[in-house]
Amino acid sequence: MLPDIMPVAEQHGLVINERTRGKREVLAKCPFCQEDAKPGKEKKFYLSLNTEDQVFKCWFCGEAGGVFRFISLLEDVPESEVIERYRFKRGKYKPHPAERLTLHQLKLIDVNFKPHWAELRKYDKQLYFKVRQEVWERWKSFLFVERRSAFQQLYMAIETGTYSRFVANVKQREREIGVPLLEPVLDVFSREQWPTWVEEALELPREILKGGKEMCSNGLLFGI
Ligand SMILES: [Zn+2]
Repeated sequence: MLPDIMPVAEQHGLVINERTRGKREVLAKCPFCQEDAKPGKEKKFYLSLNTEDQVFKCWFCGEAGGVFRFISLLEDVPESEVIERYRFKRGKYKPHPAERLTLHQLKLIDVNFKPHWAELRKYDKQLYFKVRQEVWERWKSFLFVERRSAFQQLYMAIETGTYSRFVANVKQREREIGVPLLEPVLDVFSREQWPTWVEEALELPREILKGGKEMCSNGLLFGI
């Protein structure tokens, strides 16, 4: 994939013909010959940018090429350097989500230090993968328990009419653990069919609610 030519043009302050913006061929003032910057040529835009093929051509001076050449001319650096820069960018490492966990989050799963991910990756690939997997597995189970608990609370809150207190509690918990709970839980709740883990998670709350109702009715029965 080539870099898009339009953002490059914008970053370098090219004057775009607004009426062509968003089209396949966008016209701009040519920064190379600057012929269309001359008095009386306000309405001329000699540089054509092909936003599909990422190529350019000036209809006046004939300067033309691909997006790498475009960057190289605009920045006055050799094209090879531009290509190299882009290749480096493309190969840039994207950290695994496990590596983005904060120390605070790691402590929640009994990992009391933040691994030196970059060094591990560099010097001991095997250990790196092992640690990463262990951390990620723990985090996933942790999240599962958190969401299940939030779901149980939501269910209880709806049954007992304490929804706003539930929202306050769950938002507090979101801040503590640094991940969303309310949205995902409401999302599951609104599904037509609940997943098995939900049915299992609701066994206890249902039991408690049933017990509570029985106590109430017994209480009424005995006139306490
Ligand atoms: Zn030109």
